[in-house]
Amino acid sequence: MKRVACVRTPGRSDTVHSMESGQLRVDGLSDGELQQLVEDWVAEHVPEPWRTAAQRGGRSAIRAVRSHEAYEAWYPSFAASGLAVSTWPREYLGLDLSVPRARIVESVLAPFNLGRLNPLGLNSAGPALFAHGTHEQRLRYLPPLVRNEEKWCQLLSEPGAGSDLASLATRAVRDGDEWVVNGQKVWTTWAHFSDFAICLTRTDPNVSKRRGLTYFIVDLHAPGVEVVPLRHIGGEVDFNEVFLNDVRIPDAYRIGAIGDGWRVAGSTLAGERQMVSGSGSGGVDRIGGSGTARLLARAKELGRTHEGSIRQRLASVYSEERIREWTNQRVRATVQAGGTPGPAASIGKVHQGGLNQRIQLLANDLLGPTAMAWETPRSVNSSEYGAALPFEVSGMLRSRANTIEGGTTEVNKTILGERVLGLPREPDPWNDRPWSEVPRS
Ligand SMILES: Cc1cc2nc3c(=O)[nH]c(=O)nc-3n(C[C@H](O)[C@H](O)[C@H](O)COP(=O)(O)OP(=O)(O)OC[C@H]3O[C@@H](n4cnc5c(N)ncnc54)[C@H](O)[C@@H]3O)c2cc1C
Repeated sequence: MKRVACVRTPGRSDTVHSMESGQLRVDGLSDGELQQLVEDWVAEHVPEPWRTAAQRGGRSAIRAVRSHEAYEAWYPSFAASGLAVSTWPREYLGLDLSVPRARIVESVLAPFNLGRLNPLGLNSAGPALFAHGTHEQRLRYLPPLVRNEEKWCQLLSEPGAGSDLASLATRAVRDGDEWVVNGQKVWTTWAHFSDFAICLTRTDPNVSKRRGLTYFIVDLHAPGVEVVPLRHIGGEVDFNEVFLNDVRIPDAYRIGAIGDGWRVAGSTLAGERQMVSGSGSGGVDRIGGSGTARLLARAKELGRTHEGSIRQRLASVYSEERIREWTNQRVRATVQAGGTPGPAASIGKVHQGGLNQRIQLLANDLLGPTAMAWETPRSVNSSEYGAALPFEVSGMLRSRANTIEGGTTEVNKTILGERVLGLPREPDPWNDRPWSEVPRS
């Protein structure tokens, strides 16, 4: 496996970014005028082939004419308008819109499938900065994050700490105005192309596991950060191991108080569950591949819609998807109204993980033997491995992770049992003992 040694990007500034010039002015506009403004913006700024594709064939037609690279190149002008995060304050590249007015914006934009880039930044770093960061930190980090100029990932899980995240061992030791961090993180999605990460560390091993944690921003280009890519079962690389060897972090990169990292992580984890469940993206783009619209089209294409058992399974996943969208809408409305996603994000996460797996399995069953008869490259380490799979198969393989990433289904069910149903807490005999005394695997 290739090792990617990261180096500091020369010339990248740590200064606060100024207000945007392309930001739309929405003060004093009626709802109708706001809608018109957004429609005019779309007509002027969304490239003509994308607009035509949207009118002709919706999201799948857009995908056919719009590469990811083209979308990334165009995206900063979308972000600069304020439309990408319209409920955020103007100074952080939003438009300060209320939730009902943001819905007007969303309904105009929806047909053009203008998904938000940098989702871990928006859904993990963003909530932590809003809830616990300083004004200076928000001004420094949020605008380039929204513009997708600085990409973010999250350094939480470790080889010995996943579900029981609070037992993590990465140490941060204070040295004047800096912290020296040592440890290993794993399953770090997108670390191989990210600039910054949120990171949970242990700053006091002599108190109970949740009290001795502190939350930092880590510059992934800093000396001592080593990113080692890992390969998914379907062949693609999108997560990594990250080794932190004497990485020096300025105290100004700390989010929240020393020892308060578990509370800060709470906003991050709820945001992540919300994202994985689809409520962060309006239930549009889901991890692991297609939703039921694509599935129905595929079933028609393959001439399978007359079969009773297939029709039943299609109807079942279709109804489940509608239900999930309504749950996500509730979570999204709470977040847009300034609340945190809360335990309801776990409902979406549990439901979406299993639902997407059912959708992807059905997509494979529709293919019949073709789903099994694909060419295997000579070596599973080959970079061609993923490319050889039909998209249904790679979607199905990727979807196996849906019930693990962002917190496993079992753990999310425990959260729902305790916080929604009010059941007694799962016993933890080590809860109040100092972390240093707790046995670890
Ligand atoms: C595709 C993917 C992307 C990821 N991206 C990131 C990322 O960007 N950043 C990051 O920090 N992490 C990331 N993760 C890690 C992810 O959060 C962890 O894998 C997850 O929290 C589970 O931890 P674990 O793998 O250590 O499994 P473990 O915690 O060891 O769990 C093993 C099994 O035991 C079960 N289990 C554990 N505890 C309990 C309990 N108390 N009750 C009942 N059952 C239990 C689990 O449900 C699971 O089935 C990613 C994972 C995946 C698969």
